[in-house]
Amino acid sequence: MSPDSAPAAAQRIDGVAVARAVRDDVALEVAELKTRGITPGLTVVIVGEDPASQTYVRAKEKASVEAGMKGETIRLAADVSQAELEQLIDRLNADDSVHGILVQSPLPKHMDSNTVVRRISPAKDVDGFHPVNVGKLLTGEKDGFAPCTPAGVQELLVRYGVSTTGKDVVIVGRSNIVGKPMAALLMQQGAGGDCTVTVCHSRTRDLAAHTRRADIVIAALGRPESITGDMIRPGAVVIDVGISRVADPSAARGYRLAGDVHFESAAQVASFITPVPGGVGPMTIAMLLKNTVRAARQAGA
Ligand code: NDP
Repeated sequence: MSPDSAPAAAQRIDGVAVARAVRDDVALEVAELKTRGITPGLTVVIVGEDPASQTYVRAKEKASVEAGMKGETIRLAADVSQAELEQLIDRLNADDSVHGILVQSPLPKHMDSNTVVRRISPAKDVDGFHPVNVGKLLTGEKDGFAPCTPAGVQELLVRYGVSTTGKDVVIVGRSNIVGKPMAALLMQQGAGGDCTVTVCHSRTRDLAAHTRRADIVIAALGRPESITGDMIRPGAVVIDVGISRVADPSAARGYRLAGDVHFESAAQVASFITPVPGGVGPMTIAMLLKNTVRAARQAGA
């Protein structure tokens, strides 16, 4: 039997179900805050017409409204000036009904996204990219906001009862959005942390030697199906953050979605594994809502 047709040994981590549970918890919190006269508000700002970004912001607004929040999307033309965008952010910073602000990336080329992110009040930066929140994540201050995708990975591990204490974690990828904050979250003291973390990247020598000794492998390199079963230690937990379109003439759309892990071979050896889609992906919006409700709570405290 080829590895591809052998039955998978690993338990699938169901990100759809966990995201639903997180969103249900958020909805309960929203209802409780409303009894105190606070309606958590999330405002998403999108500049331009990028179709993928339009899809993401629609999903964010829909999810926030479903949770009982005030969800709003502000759409700006692609040629809006950076000064106009910053004025809008200033207005949202000053608006007490807005607790979370998210500026959808990517921004058009004429804008400096670092400057834009710094303009958002750290108390409303529910994406967790403002340097103040990056710093709080590193120092372990709990009132900051962690970026939603790595926070979602940690939530999956916790909710599936995967013990992290003392575990060797290998993260493949060192981006500011996934790899670096993932490392910061897992190295913190306490539940869902206390890991010994290695961060690999494109300059790492012998990637497989690192992944093979990991208790938990987190793939976030953006290279479809590049982490194969022979790179995984038997019994390891495999979390696949990657999501790419891969040409597939047999699919109606001409492509399929693929993660950074070669699922079929990795599932033969792993104890737990996330599928793509349906693993990490749904967690991002759920954690965005969770951050927003906490921003509202902290603002109202
Ligand atoms: P980036 O392209 O910003 O970062 C990729 C990282 O992987 C870099 O650090 C790069 O190294 C490293 N890398 C690239 N090739 C290799 C290699 N062959 N061996 C080891 N390391 C390598 O990607 P992101 O972090 O933004 O995203 C990673 C993946 O996660 C993508 O597929 C993306 O679509 C997905 N993603 C999914 C999200 C979700 O589910 N909600 C959210 C965000 C991302 P170097 O730094 O040296 O260049």
